[in-house]
Amino acid sequence: TGSPLRKEESAAEEKGLGFKGHDMLAPFTAGWQSTDLHPLIIERSEGSYVYDSNGKKYLDALAGLWCTALGGNEPRLVAAATKQLNTLPFYHSFWNRTTKPSLDLAKELLETFTASKMAKAFFTNSGSEANDTQVKLVWYYNNALGRPDKKKFIARHNSYHGSTLIAASLSGLPALHQKFDLPAPFVLHTDCPHYWRHHLPGETEEEYSTRLANNLENLILKEGPETIAAFIAEPVMGAGGVIPPPATYFEKVQAVVKKYDILFIADEVICAFGRLGYMYGCDKYNIKPDLVSVAKALSSAYMPIGAVLVSPEVSDVIHSQSSKLGSFSHGFTYSGHPVACAVAIEALKIYKERNIVEQVRSIAPRFQDGVKAFSDSPIIGEIRGTGLIIGTEFADNKSPNDPFPAEWGVCAYFGAQCQKHGMLVRVAGDNTMMSPPFIMTPSEVEELISIYGKALKATEEYVKELKSK
Ligand code: PMP
Repeated sequence: TGSPLRKEESAAEEKGLGFKGHDMLAPFTAGWQSTDLHPLIIERSEGSYVYDSNGKKYLDALAGLWCTALGGNEPRLVAAATKQLNTLPFYHSFWNRTTKPSLDLAKELLETFTASKMAKAFFTNSGSEANDTQVKLVWYYNNALGRPDKKKFIARHNSYHGSTLIAASLSGLPALHQKFDLPAPFVLHTDCPHYWRHHLPGETEEEYSTRLANNLENLILKEGPETIAAFIAEPVMGAGGVIPPPATYFEKVQAVVKKYDILFIADEVICAFGRLGYMYGCDKYNIKPDLVSVAKALSSAYMPIGAVLVSPEVSDVIHSQSSKLGSFSHGFTYSGHPVACAVAIEALKIYKERNIVEQVRSIAPRFQDGVKAFSDSPIIGEIRGTGLIIGTEFADNKSPNDPFPAEWGVCAYFGAQCQKHGMLVRVAGDNTMMSPPFIMTPSEVEELISIYGKALKATEEYVKELKSK
């Protein structure tokens, strides 16, 4: 395609990283990438860094995929996994049989959530499975209550809730829908709460939030409140470009949702366990959800595990109605996998002992200020973030209405420059995103800012050159 990303990756090819045309059908990868280019192969990790198969070191500014909160080589997590593997590598949790690590993790995990009361934890292997589970839980709940029509879900444009059929349907990213016959018909999408992009001239953040809450209410009324089961939202939108909510947004949408007896699902897959400088995004934004999805940092990504936290109101209905509806016939072979649970228990212990929330708060201001200092760049539209998550949106004339031509690949060029200078970031369309490990040191934050600056300077020159042609 001749995109700058491709040019950059061709350099990797010259260095002989190998495996061009490999045998993997790779996730979120274009066909031409895996056939024509060599993949970047990450071989080992250490703290906030990863190393490729050529020995090149990268600052892992996305913490894998927003998940390796404790970095690359936390020995306590390895020890917890090894101990459990040596004791009981597997047993399931079906039919009232289970294992001690899954019971212990359920208890520990529920104790970490204090924004509203949570009574039960259901284990999954991923965030997508957690969100699929949410839909089935909510349907089961409404069936148990004799409300068979209350089944629709409202999510937001630009959200990311996973890539299984239902989680991809909930997601509001066109790429997840196009060519997959999605979203499923019971999913509706309301506004993406992106003030910079969508506010009207002169509209304050508060007024903008009021307008969005009104739009949500109008959608509910148009569809019929008796048909709307739940609303799902990430406290800070992640993959959609890192979009923190505008002032008063969650206060206002929660009031609407409550008015029509609609359950609130907080998708905390990225935000939970300290990323925003709070244990949960719900703590930061005063969200009182009925259901919560977690994954990623739950085990610091050392083992695949996710969970759904269920309020007493919902779990009581599910329990009390079981004689009528039968068992909650949903679960995965690996729900509550003992090794994953043992690692997650240890991760939660470490977060507590090291006061990870304070750790994040101690480095977040410099991280945010250092990156946001580049906001004046003529090729940046907006830099936004909070805690240890930040997104940069490239735009011409600093305007949300002037994207650079897609074929210029401006954001991809920036990502490739970061990679060249030894840092891995996420690139999606005009947005680049970073969510580094919680254990970053102050000097690593400085390194991140410095590489960002170098990559930005090169990208500015690249744009200048293209414009002069
Ligand atoms: N929800 C959110 C907010 C996410 O960011 C993600 C993954 N990036 C998911 C759900 C899906 O998680 P998984 O990839 O583990 O299925």
